[in-house]
Amino acid sequence: MPDDCIFCAIADNKADASMVYEDDQCVAFMDIHPIGDGHVLVIPRQHALQLTELSQDSASHLFGIAQRILRAQRRIGQGIEGSHILVNDGPAANQQVAHIHIHLIPRRRGDGLQSLGKLALHITGLFGRARARDVLELEARQLREALSALED
Ligand code: 5GP
Ligand code: ZN
Repeated sequence: MPDDCIFCAIADNKADASMVYEDDQCVAFMDIHPIGDGHVLVIPRQHALQLTELSQDSASHLFGIAQRILRAQRRIGQGIEGSHILVNDGPAANQQVAHIHIHLIPRRRGDGLQSLGKLALHITGLFGRARARDVLELEARQLREALSALED
């Protein structure tokens, strides 16, 4: 694991994050500069820059967990009618954090301008102000509860 990888540090509980899900292969947590309410990142514990570096089994597991979290997001509701499921796969594709991650970005009717503006900022690496930790913690707790209520 590279010493300077913030996502490895989060996966190892060495840096703060509002945790949504953890298992032996991956972790999910709230994005600190969310494009919209409830924006989650899912990452493998294994440090890898791009999707092609993961085994097919690891990639399948990662996307399977992402799908469960999508279900939890829809269960909470809050007007979520769709999502962006986004991987910026490599620096050439505007990846800012060099550890692969899947963005799960809920979308609501009428949120277009706000979300698209923030998406443009993310692409440039200008994330703006971090969201307050107590808000992220509340969202993470709601998602953890919704995940545990899901049937397998
Ligand atoms: P990328 O542009 O690499 O696809 O997205 C990186 C994402 O990581 C951004 O959405 C950004 O807000 C998020 N991010 C960057 N640093 C941190 C951090 O320290 N904690 C959390 N929770 N998210 C981060
Ligand atoms: Zn890493």
